[in-house]
Amino acid sequence: KAGILWLARDLRLSDNPALRAAIDDGPLLAVFVIDGQVERQGAASRWRLQRGLCSLDAELRRRTRGSGLLVLRGEAEQVLPDLVRLTGAKSVHQSDWPAPGMRDAQDRVRNALTPLGARLILHPGFLLTHPGNVRTAQGGVYRVYTPFARALRAVGVDRPAAAAPEAIVAFSKPPSGLALAELQLAPDMHGGAEVLERFALPAGEAAAFARLDEFLDHATSYDADRDRPDLDATSGLSEHLALGEISPRTVWAMARDRMEREASKADGIGKFLSELIWREFAWHLFIDFPQMDRSPWRSEWSAFPWRRSNTSLERWTRAETGIALVDAGMREMRVTGRMHNRVRMVVASYLTKHLLTDWRLGMSHFAESLTDWDPASNAMNWQWVAGCGPDASPFFRIFNPEKQATQYDPQGSYRRRWLAGWMGKPTDEAMAYFDSLPSSWQVSRDWRERGGLDEARKQALAAFEEFKEGA
Ligand code: FAD
Repeated sequence: KAGILWLARDLRLSDNPALRAAIDDGPLLAVFVIDGQVERQGAASRWRLQRGLCSLDAELRRRTRGSGLLVLRGEAEQVLPDLVRLTGAKSVHQSDWPAPGMRDAQDRVRNALTPLGARLILHPGFLLTHPGNVRTAQGGVYRVYTPFARALRAVGVDRPAAAAPEAIVAFSKPPSGLALAELQLAPDMHGGAEVLERFALPAGEAAAFARLDEFLDHATSYDADRDRPDLDATSGLSEHLALGEISPRTVWAMARDRMEREASKADGIGKFLSELIWREFAWHLFIDFPQMDRSPWRSEWSAFPWRRSNTSLERWTRAETGIALVDAGMREMRVTGRMHNRVRMVVASYLTKHLLTDWRLGMSHFAESLTDWDPASNAMNWQWVAGCGPDASPFFRIFNPEKQATQYDPQGSYRRRWLAGWMGKPTDEAMAYFDSLPSSWQVSRDWRERGGLDEARKQALAAFEEFKEGA
């Protein structure tokens, strides 16, 4: 017999009840299936996924003395029954990843296992608590963040399960799988993977813990500085959380613990915890409304006359809008797969308001380009910025990218870091952007400012007024 662990997210050994349950069933067979869903993910997140899988594989080999992660290509409803037949297992365990596509895969796997007398068991681990625990008095889902956060804090966050098992007995005769080192999960990455590799942060569970520790050491100023892209003031945990290399419950528990021991960090860490609740809010909404990455939450927004594909969108994706903060952010994302939250809000607002372009086009570009891509957070935030989500920022609140830059990048060091030709000598980071470009793109190295913000703002407001009158 074997204990089969089917990994989707939660690529970690600590606080992983699914792993514990699989180990209790028998020698561990941990499998990751590269299916159509993975292949449809954006290139940057596939590239990051591969690094996460390699790291977990190395950790498993260490604890099992030689047996790593089994990686197979195919559809889970075929692969997993084959493993059940091979091992005689009665259960397949998964740390539940509640994305709609995964829900469909889980149903198909359940149906395929039933005739074999086996079942799929889902375990918690990806969220702070089960969505059923945070409900309004009427039993519905909270649509507004503040009461959601209050209710979550009132029910309490689930405690993290035990630490990682020290030694693991592995299933001795696994079928042969794909060689992780040779696996090219993102051959279509723009500019090749080399550009992202140059600026990559360490992946995996140990790196996530180290990052959290380091962040908590300096968290005193998080509440004051978290909006400053020129400072390194945020945790940088989103890549790890997106893949579940550390659990949100562990992050919560460690942060709370530090807060209780060091009073000077109470404000900073308190604010950090409320950001973690935004992630939770996004997922609870997404579970309730799985169309969130396709349709506006507020259905009347389906009639808004968003522009579809257009040349301004093209310039936005190429980071050539002529608006310094926007282009700096888009270049940062192209080169590193990351972008500061404040800048994400600014570039998203610019696309949806000044350029009146459909938020779904921006969301897809982010999904293709972000290493921390998370379908719930991405969709919720795009809808928030565009004004069509629950608890959204109203459409008429239009960020002025120049004022945002003055306020949050006061010395211009963020823009200078990412924008060759903006001021002074270009940095290595700024020049790396050009290495990522296909030869067919004629991007001038001499960045030029393009005005027109006021005019575009007026047009956006006029379109909104017309829409409101028609509604
Ligand atoms: P910190 O400030 O240290 O925050 C700690 C954690 O809280 C983050 O790691 C993240 O898990 C969570 N968090 C913080 N802000 C938010 C938020 N606004 N919404 C949801 N969770 C939040 N985040 C993703 O993880 N994946 C995405 O695909 C994604 N797409 C976004 C798209 C847009 C248009 C916008 C405006 C925001 C998006 N975010 C997304 C949220 C946010 O920008 C990132 O989580 C944050 O920048 C990550 O940096 P950090 O880990 O240093 O955050």
